[in-house]
Amino acid sequence: MAKKIPMRTCIGCGICKEKKTLIRLVHTKDGQIMVDRTGRVGGRGAYLCDDPACLEKAVKRGAIARAFGVPVSRETILALQEELSGTALPESKTGPESPGAKASRSVSDQKTGAGGHPVSAGKAGNHAG
Ligand SMILES: [Zn+2]
Repeated sequence: MAKKIPMRTCIGCGICKEKKTLIRLVHTKDGQIMVDRTGRVGGRGAYLCDDPACLEKAVKRGAIARAFGVPVSRETILALQEELSGTALPESKTGPESPGAKASRSVSDQKTGAGGHPVSAGKAGNHAG
């Protein structure tokens, strides 16, 4: 009970939560606004739930710009959104070819290629020893 849990307010939904459950946004000295997962980046900080929906709210309310006192570019918002939604989407990496088509093809190849091989026919006779 004596232990004091640090609380911060999400700039998106305005709910006060445990600091460790929130994402820290930082406005660095270079003027960059980024997600600070380590909590160690120097600069002015603002907190947000680990939820893209809260980022969206913050963007719509202009809460990020207000928190840092600077205008927030669209690029910055996109970068933050990407970071919060689990970085790059996997779709972009996988090609257009469907794995299903390939699999069915290799199965038919195996059938024709196998040719009913007798399993270790010669060895069977050596059993008597
Ligand atoms: Zn929130």
